[in-house]
Amino acid sequence: MKYINKAIFINYLRCPTLGWMTKRNIIPKFIGINSRFLKFEREIILEMSHKLFSNGVNAWKSKIDVAALYARELIFNPNVKTIYEAYFIATDYLAKIDILKKYDGNVLSLFEIKPSTKYKFKYINDMSFDAMVLAKAGVNVQRYALLHLSSDYRFGMDVSRFFKILDCTDKVELKINEFLNLSDEIIEIIKSKNMPRPYLKKNCKNCPVFNTCIGKGIKNHIFDLPHLSTASLERLVTSGIDTICKIPSDFELTKAQKIVKNCVLTGANYVSKDLKTYIHNIKQPFYYLDFESVSTALPLYEHVGPYSQFLTQFSIYKTDIAGNIIDHYEYIVDQKKDCRREITEKFIEYLDIEGSIMTYANFERNIILKLMDIFPDLSGKLDGIVKRIVDLELIIRKNYYDVNFHGRSSIKKVLPILIPELDYSHLKIKNGRDAVTAFAFMAMGVYGSKKIKQTKRNLLKYCAMDTLAMVYIHQFLIDVVERNESINL
Ligand code: SF4
Repeated sequence: MKYINKAIFINYLRCPTLGWMTKRNIIPKFIGINSRFLKFEREIILEMSHKLFSNGVNAWKSKIDVAALYARELIFNPNVKTIYEAYFIATDYLAKIDILKKYDGNVLSLFEIKPSTKYKFKYINDMSFDAMVLAKAGVNVQRYALLHLSSDYRFGMDVSRFFKILDCTDKVELKINEFLNLSDEIIEIIKSKNMPRPYLKKNCKNCPVFNTCIGKGIKNHIFDLPHLSTASLERLVTSGIDTICKIPSDFELTKAQKIVKNCVLTGANYVSKDLKTYIHNIKQPFYYLDFESVSTALPLYEHVGPYSQFLTQFSIYKTDIAGNIIDHYEYIVDQKKDCRREITEKFIEYLDIEGSIMTYANFERNIILKLMDIFPDLSGKLDGIVKRIVDLELIIRKNYYDVNFHGRSSIKKVLPILIPELDYSHLKIKNGRDAVTAFAFMAMGVYGSKKIKQTKRNLLKYCAMDTLAMVYIHQFLIDVVERNESINL
């Protein structure tokens, strides 16, 4: 990228090192099925937004410099009232504007499209970047508005009801000068051969380059402490402490953080005294339940709105004694229609009426609670299921810690440590996000029948693997309890 675009600028605001790296393309790009879907969906939403501003001219050209010249020409063309996807270049900056609309007297309004049903503060930064570039380019815009999705929209309604306009002029105008004042300094730092020196801060925690940047070669980083507050982090950083081992004994930590610290210092795993009770309270026969769902900005079925969540498939393992699988039930819905009723009746049938139902985290419980509202006639049976749910992640979080968990407890983090032989590498679909996306592509009619068959097979395999992982984790925890009992004899 020859120019400083929005991504580089916004990343710079998070961290100058990150902005510098973004300019040089050394930030890992997520090019999986999920980012392909987001792009696909955004393009449809952009096209839909154009219908609100009829007779516009699309300023897009394959060469950016040509596109920028064309956009400028359109701005001064009195016959053009609306411009879509217009590039503007000013000094070293490049902005792409979703929609520019000319009102009477050549008053210009900028519309930024966001495929979200809610306003987010970060959108102001996005719009202010565009506003800064337009100001530098000498294009005078009087109004800045966000075009976001309406949660009241339902499948099949007119496109005019799909969007809501939120005027953000006041907020953007407050930011423009701040950005203009920073802009020259940012150009200088971003274009410099020398990378700005990285320093530890809260943003580093979820930074895509953490392991190759400030976290490189550091074992037991303070980020491995669960739920570290900003205040605690700032105190540690100010004292130059980046690893758990260096935290002084009088530094205040939560109970969970103390457990992690102790495991790091002793190298021993943590097993709580209560683990035995938790494990003994799980009733036979044992069920292990995993759901997958879909949620898209563009509603998929009648009577539903943007981002409505649909249960799409389940996998249930049943064991009589832990590890001894006696049944496996699985189900995936017809992607062409709303199958919430069918799938709900199916898992109710398979889960029967006795025995504990193990899940990993709260997802399945929350889906079932929502289904109780949708199908009041099934709420008694669903409530019975909810009461039998045992959250294995919660049991681990409270009662077991391995120093290799690095402060995490998600199934994808703990499984390779507890059960290294069970891995997802051979699967075509390896995580929940890809599962959601694969289903969404099918439901939106993008895949042909052969690809649908293949995708459904892959989805079933993925869901079954997540469920099987719970069978093994349960067994692992039983073994831990038994080992501990024999030590204490
Ligand atoms: S890890 Fe921290 S210092 Fe390094 S680029 Fe990311 S935010 Fe900046």
